[in-house]
Amino acid sequence: MAQGSLNAAGKLRIALAHGDGIGPEIMSACLEIFEAAGVLEHVEFVPALMGEGVFKTGNTMGISDSAIATVEETGLVYKGPMGTPVGGGGKSINVTLRKMYGAYANVRHFQSLPGVETVYSKAGVPVDFYVVRENIEDTYGGIEHRLTNDVVECKRLISAPGCDQVHREAFETARRLGIKKVHCGHKANIMKMSDGLFLERFYNIGSDYPEIETADVIVDALCMNLVLRPQNYEMVVLPNLQGDIVSDLAAGLVGGLGFAPSANIGQHVSIFEAVHGTAPDIAGKGLANPTSLLLSGLLMLRHIGLMRHANTIENALIATLESGVHTGDFGHASGTPAVGTLEYGRAIITNLGKTPASREPLPVDGVPAATCFVRPSRPRHNTLMRTFETVRSVYVGCDIYIDTLLNPSELADKLNAICLPTPFALKMMSNRGTQVWPTGSVFTETVDYYRVRFELRDMNRAPSLGQGPIIRLLDRIAEKFEVTDFQPLKYYDGKPGYSLAQGQ
Ligand code: NAD
Repeated sequence: MAQGSLNAAGKLRIALAHGDGIGPEIMSACLEIFEAAGVLEHVEFVPALMGEGVFKTGNTMGISDSAIATVEETGLVYKGPMGTPVGGGGKSINVTLRKMYGAYANVRHFQSLPGVETVYSKAGVPVDFYVVRENIEDTYGGIEHRLTNDVVECKRLISAPGCDQVHREAFETARRLGIKKVHCGHKANIMKMSDGLFLERFYNIGSDYPEIETADVIVDALCMNLVLRPQNYEMVVLPNLQGDIVSDLAAGLVGGLGFAPSANIGQHVSIFEAVHGTAPDIAGKGLANPTSLLLSGLLMLRHIGLMRHANTIENALIATLESGVHTGDFGHASGTPAVGTLEYGRAIITNLGKTPASREPLPVDGVPAATCFVRPSRPRHNTLMRTFETVRSVYVGCDIYIDTLLNPSELADKLNAICLPTPFALKMMSNRGTQVWPTGSVFTETVDYYRVRFELRDMNRAPSLGQGPIIRLLDRIAEKFEVTDFQPLKYYDGKPGYSLAQGQ
């Protein structure tokens, strides 16, 4: 492990990108608050050029080479929202940064804030919980193919080390924040292997944190529970797509994206950013609400150890909101006119040192007030992540995916004839995941994409089989059919490493 990047004065360097649209306005307000709270005595913000201006120079990544060097050197990025060019080659810089630097855990804090009217605030129901979302894997790998005339696929990859990273981050954050119970949201009742792995690793990692209670909840029930009783949750950790949806649902509970901060935590680089976009409709007018970016900055201050500074600023923010100060996008019930971005920030500065009346103030005395940021040394090459388990695997057959318009029994007759002289028997055929052979229903409607499963007739041969006979079977099938995909079937430590079809 190495310390973060320090300047000559011993201050921790952090890459700073103001962002596009309202980005520079809200960032200026946040930096003024940081300066007034003494953060700049510990931190140096180093400008890093990225976003629309860089895209316009023809750089399709949207980030300059010197900004890449700054990000890699500092390992910390504080950024405003950035525009993604519509059409053309440019990809979202936000997504590029998260993926390129493996920022695997997206941590968001959702809390009711005074002056921000919601259904829950009116009902006196407090909302205060974290969502930790896996940020790299799942369907977000973007591995998509057109398979046949009528079928496309999106591969959903879930890895054990990927799960471990996000779960560990969730439990570490929970421990740091004194959270007593962490839930895992999932859909393991349907996706038994992929979400099943996510869930299994959750409990596995959770056992290292005995002081924290663990529980799991199916994601659809979670959505209902969050709407009915948000106060029952302190932290929920979820796979990528489910976490994406639940995060926005949670933002709605506390008044919208303008109040939802976000941290993308990685081994080497962590990115702290507002959840909302560049708000082009109000950009340059000095009207934007800097709360989301400020709260993201507080996640960053806590990440690097400046707990006292973060608590002081959060207390001042709450006191400011209690006094009825608000920007134009919220607080209409306060009866006071809206203020602009900078005035809002300056009201918070005036309240530094004050404590909120509507809730328990965050502690300031005796709380750490120095940076303590460490991270692994720069890797020489890509790090191969492995779990410590070593499993023994043997081949037992394969699933072959075929593009055909034949009906199930016609197809089965032909395949049975092809595999007769091989060690494999046709075991099952499914279409869109539902078994259609050897048993099935004529009411099951099919498309031009079948999965056909072959398994060894004599499973005792598995230990010495290897891949060769499976590839030769594939070759025989490909002589007669259009093969669109292929998946060897294996047993891992005596257990099948593949799911059964619906109805099998
Ligand atoms: P948006 O979040 O920018 O705006 C949606 C609405 O919310 C607008 O009416 C806007 O005025 C309002 N709004 C947003 N933030 C506000 C704030 N801080 N204060 C007051 N009002 C606020 O979403 P959009 O219009 O769909 O996207 C605009 C651009 O932002 C697009 O280029 C998009 O790709 C980009 N974007 C970037 C990020 C990011 O950098 N993390 C996230 C989302 C969208």
